Amino acid sequence: MEPIDIGIIGCGTAGAAAALFLSRAGHRVTVYERVPDPGPVGAGIMLQPTGQAVLARLGLREAVLARCSPITGMSCRTDRGRKLFALRYDDVPGDHLGYGLHRGLLFEHLFRAVREASLSLRLGVAVEDLAPTADGRGQWFVTPEGERLGPHTLCIVADGARSHLRDDTTIKKRVRAYPWGALWFVGDDPDDRYHGELYQVVQGTKRMIGLLPTGKGPGAATGEKISLFYSLRADHLDAWRAAGLDAWKREVAALVPRAEPVLDQIRSADQVLFARYHDVSMYPWSTDRVVYLGDAGHAMSPQLGQGANLALWDAMELEMALSAHDSLSEALDAYSRARRPHLGFYQFATRWLTPFFQSDLTPLGWMRDLGFPIATSIPFLRRLMVRSMCGLALGTGLGAPLALPAPAPQLGARGLESGAPHAQS
Ligand SMILES: Cc1cc2nc3c(=O)[nH]c(=O)nc-3n(C[C@H](O)[C@H](O)[C@H](O)COP(=O)(O)OP(=O)(O)OC[C@H]3O[C@@H](n4cnc5c(N)ncnc54)[C@H](O)[C@@H]3O)c2cc1C
Repeated sequence: MEPIDIGIIGCGTAGAAAALFLSRAGHRVTVYERVPDPGPVGAGIMLQPTGQAVLARLGLREAVLARCSPITGMSCRTDRGRKLFALRYDDVPGDHLGYGLHRGLLFEHLFRAVREASLSLRLGVAVEDLAPTADGRGQWFVTPEGERLGPHTLCIVADGARSHLRDDTTIKKRVRAYPWGALWFVGDDPDDRYHGELYQVVQGTKRMIGLLPTGKGPGAATGEKISLFYSLRADHLDAWRAAGLDAWKREVAALVPRAEPVLDQIRSADQVLFARYHDVSMYPWSTDRVVYLGDAGHAMSPQLGQGANLALWDAMELEMALSAHDSLSEALDAYSRARRPHLGFYQFATRWLTPFFQSDLTPLGWMRDLGFPIATSIPFLRRLMVRSMCGLALGTGLGAPLALPAPAPQLGARGLESGAPHAQS
């Protein structure tokens, strides 16, 4: 496609990555970000092989990984010490590894690259509405003050899980806030004692506590970080605050004794963030001139640790679709069709799995404690689970997984010129 004028709403993971891919492909890109001075906020997230491959194509992989913590697998035990599963990345072919990192680290690298890219970045500009131009060939971006910005030929909505712009789309959609979320704390791990594994402990379906090695984080600090998460119903947050930190710390330490050095660093409830989860499904992810990327189009519970990875992949796939088609509407159709198997699987899997780990449905906990050890001992199911953890699953069978793009990125001035996706072994 010839270069077009593109407006992107939101400079989070999806918006920033899309801005980089599309400006490098020669399109005229303007990014609108509501926050005037965005900073590296958040807690621990997982960077899966899919997200790593996208960062490689952006030329950011090595710099990001240098400050991440390599993760060889994830394990989960019950409060009574029974192993539910221990999945390792090397259980599937491909030399895969996960990485734990601070969300702010990913943001820092993407944002720096956006600042250095040939594009226009408008900070402190919230886009509240879209209005088609009189000739129907573009969209005005409307601010809360009624100012019209643009117009842009293509509008990319990447304004996150709570997207307001999504509310007005005619695309059939379902948006739901989970009753559950999680408390997050990022602490120091000076002895790197949590190295190598995402470790989780569950008690029924109402308690899930995890320790995720989080690397060195954004900035220049040299010590390792560790993220502690604790699942909590959103409507229990006030009661949690009222009960005081000490009782909670005692409870967590009793369930996960190895968390004690992390708990010792928490002196105030203000050090702990609460994140609520959303579940968004829509299809297709585009109309003729508007496309929804990242959490705006498919927010899901973080049960499988895929949110940022899916957002990165969206951005890469959109650029590929625009490169491969001369007509914008054909390109957007192709984008939605290309994303459907991948996103469809992860939406199905997280929706299905989440109540077994975070819900008020106690019998699901019993089923989980009985079923998971059996399921993970069956090679077919184990491989499917590890493939899902890697971000590579396209369905519940063991057909070909998602094809990662070639490891050596060659981003030319007009786009992704070499390295067509290749099939995995
Ligand atoms: C502050 C914050 C902290 C997070 N912390 C974690 C975490 O610790 N662990 C985790 O797994 N996930 C976290 N997430 C979610 C995770 O980053 C996303 O799942 C993933 O990165 C998908 O990215 P996204 O670009 O779709 O959305 P986001 O990363 O949410 O980015 C959306 C961007 O759009 C901007 N925006 C919103 N509305 C408008 C508007 N009207 N006009 C212009 N700009 C707008 C927002 O300011 C934001 O920069 C966090 C998200 C945010 C915003």
